[in-house]
Amino acid sequence: MAVGTELLAPGRVDRNTPLLKERLSDLGVPVRFSAVVPDERSIMEETLRTALGRCRYVLACGGLGPTTDDLTRFAAAGVLGVRLIEDAASLASIESRFRNRGIEMPEVNRRQALIPEGATALPNPLGTAPGVLARTGTGAWLVLLPGPPSELAAMFDAEVRPRLEREGLRAAGSVRETLMVAGLPESVLQERILDLTPSPEEPVQLAILASRGEIEIRVTGPAGRTAAVRRLADRMAERLGSAVFSRTAGEHLEHAVGRMLGWRGERAAIAESLTGGLITERLTRVPGSSAWFDLGVVAYANDAKRDLLAVPEEALLSHGAVSEPVALAMADGARRRSGNTWGVAVTGIAGPGGGSAEKPVGLVWVAVSGPVSRTRRFRLPGDRSLVRELTATAALDLLRQSMLAAGGQGGVRAGVGEAPG
Ligand code: ATP
Ligand code: MG
Repeated sequence: MAVGTELLAPGRVDRNTPLLKERLSDLGVPVRFSAVVPDERSIMEETLRTALGRCRYVLACGGLGPTTDDLTRFAAAGVLGVRLIEDAASLASIESRFRNRGIEMPEVNRRQALIPEGATALPNPLGTAPGVLARTGTGAWLVLLPGPPSELAAMFDAEVRPRLEREGLRAAGSVRETLMVAGLPESVLQERILDLTPSPEEPVQLAILASRGEIEIRVTGPAGRTAAVRRLADRMAERLGSAVFSRTAGEHLEHAVGRMLGWRGERAAIAESLTGGLITERLTRVPGSSAWFDLGVVAYANDAKRDLLAVPEEALLSHGAVSEPVALAMADGARRRSGNTWGVAVTGIAGPGGGSAEKPVGLVWVAVSGPVSRTRRFRLPGDRSLVRELTATAALDLLRQSMLAAGGQGGVRAGVGEAPG
């Protein structure tokens, strides 16, 4: 339960729920209920009762501050049917926090040391509000965490996770295999693996998560089914072939591309138009990218394409900037300028304006120049931001495919492991 009236207003995004879902998923704890509620005690109490009626672990975040609109602790005490009492250790830590900053603790902060009778205060090293862990009469857990995402994340990792693990969640926990896939629409991927997909009753389960053109397939099962999980993941990998770019959770195309370039002892240079530097940004996110990346050019205007990348004036005039010959000339230019093995370029129409019948919004050309040269035309869906993200993914994938086609090293290594956590 995320608490905060501002979370229900436009503009303010709830970051805590996704953060907690991710961590719970790592622990193999399925999420069955989630809510965002305003700073209103009656709604909080109603929601906590519903949650405690359905779930063994209930986490609430926000509303633990010192101000009058911070009511989560009062709602929790109401639902637990206990008083709030002052926790001496929490009060001492709040006081010393202020003392370290050379300020007398304002009296209002005293209420942050109030915790439901019988509950445990969870120290908050990054802020004033301690968390709370309480057990209900039926053995369910009620955990209160502060609203700022960095405090919440640190406290979940330091205080909540170890307790959940001690509950034996880990022993009863799960194993997971991950397949990262690119270059296939989600529907096509679903179709290809349809007959391998386990039915909902089976212990081994499948989750498919698509994000900006990359698809993550998670095969999960109970710890005792490691072999079955591995077998299913292997069969899927076989079925999907070179569309699988990694079998490591958390890896994206830029990691796979970087690793391949590193193995091959080659470098790539990037020329970007509509993506405005996104591809370069993704590649340079990878630690150690200087080993295989040294030049990214944003050539937005025709003049820039001509002057920086030696795109022939003639190609720009007769085909237009969004065209196959210009994309390839940009990739060639990036490769020649840098002296690298590979040049990669994108040009297209991100929208919302600038489209025409012949060249609609979402039309993108991607080109790779190198030992294997390739071009690909895309009609990408979505708004400006999605078109740009999908273009970056398409470019990284075309580079990867070109390297595979050029032969040599660069395959995917399978690695089985426990689910992280
Ligand atoms: P504090 O002691 O800092 O007041 P708190 O537990 O009372 O902590 P809130 O007052 O609800 O927490 O939120 C404090 C700040 O934390 C908010 O202003 C907001 O910036 C951030 N925050 C709270 N909840 C969320 C959320 N769900 N997602 C993202 N940010 C959040
Ligand atoms: Mg607050």
